[in-house]
Amino acid sequence: MIIAVDGPSGSGKSSTARGVATRLGLSYLDTGAMYRAVTWSVLEHGLDLTDVTAVAERARAVDLGISTDPGLAHFTADGSDVTEAIRDPRISENVSKVATNLDVRKELIRRQREIIDAAQPGGGIVVEGRDIATVVATDAELKVLLTADQEARMARRKAELAAGSVTAEQLRDQIVRRDADDATVSQFEVASDGAVTIDSTHLTLEEVVDVISRLAKE
Ligand code: C5P
Repeated sequence: MIIAVDGPSGSGKSSTARGVATRLGLSYLDTGAMYRAVTWSVLEHGLDLTDVTAVAERARAVDLGISTDPGLAHFTADGSDVTEAIRDPRISENVSKVATNLDVRKELIRRQREIIDAAQPGGGIVVEGRDIATVVATDAELKVLLTADQEARMARRKAELAAGSVTAEQLRDQIVRRDADDATVSQFEVASDGAVTIDSTHLTLEEVVDVISRLAKE
């Protein structure tokens, strides 16, 4: 079974997808972490983010270690533990530039499909991202588009970031800018055929996990 969970940053999709995978005993794939790990590697090599050829080459060359255990967020790039580093604002600010490189997407989508295939004998996988239902796994048994209004998304991001490290104004700017950057890659956040849209603005994490787990069992 494949469950696709797509949605914008701050929609709660990571905690939700992880929660559903844990509840149903499935594997879990955070595709955003893969784009972040490639961005980390690109910056580590001092590459120019606008050099599409060099950035795509890096994406093909980098050895990524992506945990699919919902209870263990652990990511490596070329042997370095990047679990914490990929959440750095420096990565969040630059990841859209890497993610809009079509050759990078081609490479990461290929790797994502391999991970998804490898998880099938174990019962299945919950995959979170932006283009899972529309591109990566169009055959997913359950497709969820998770949304939340901008204030709720800001509140969640703010709790994630170290207290006081950003102002509300900076955070709103970041969210608006990243949405705009991400929107330049076609098909993001567009409900695909058969997708269920869940607005999590007024729901707790537990309630969203309940709804998706119930849908998965239908
Ligand atoms: O989900 P997260 O916010 O960690 O994703 C980081 C970035 O990776 C997104 O802002 C987007 O640019 C990119 N991304 C993507 N396609 C995905 C997942 C993430 O382009 N499937």
